[in-house]
Amino acid sequence: MCMDDLTPDQLEDLRQKLLALQDDLTTLLDVSADSARPVSLDQPIGRLSRMDAIQDQQMAQANRRGYELRLRQVQAGLSAMDEGDYGYCKKCEDPVGYARLGVRPEAPFCLPCQEAQETRS
Ligand SMILES: [Zn+2]
Repeated sequence: MCMDDLTPDQLEDLRQKLLALQDDLTTLLDVSADSARPVSLDQPIGRLSRMDAIQDQQMAQANRRGYELRLRQVQAGLSAMDEGDYGYCKKCEDPVGYARLGVRPEAPFCLPCQEAQETRS
């Protein structure tokens, strides 16, 4: 057994973390749904406050995209757990490692692959 493999206890701990994240992100998406709605041009507000409203809306939409991406990763992590292949890098298939998963249980890549991806984009 590879020393980077997760123990059943660690897996259970990470499953709880994923489930909690799934709850949090679903709530965040729920509460932010209103502010991300397109600004109506018929809204009776001045030009400046309309620009503010559009900026707020763009920020809310960017936040929501982040939540949605993370939620998809959380759900992918949970279904990988069911398949029994959770904790392996989607790119190089090395174990991601408990230290990293404890911080980002939904992390789809190991640290070297994640960093390679971030420097490329
Ligand atoms: Zn990797």
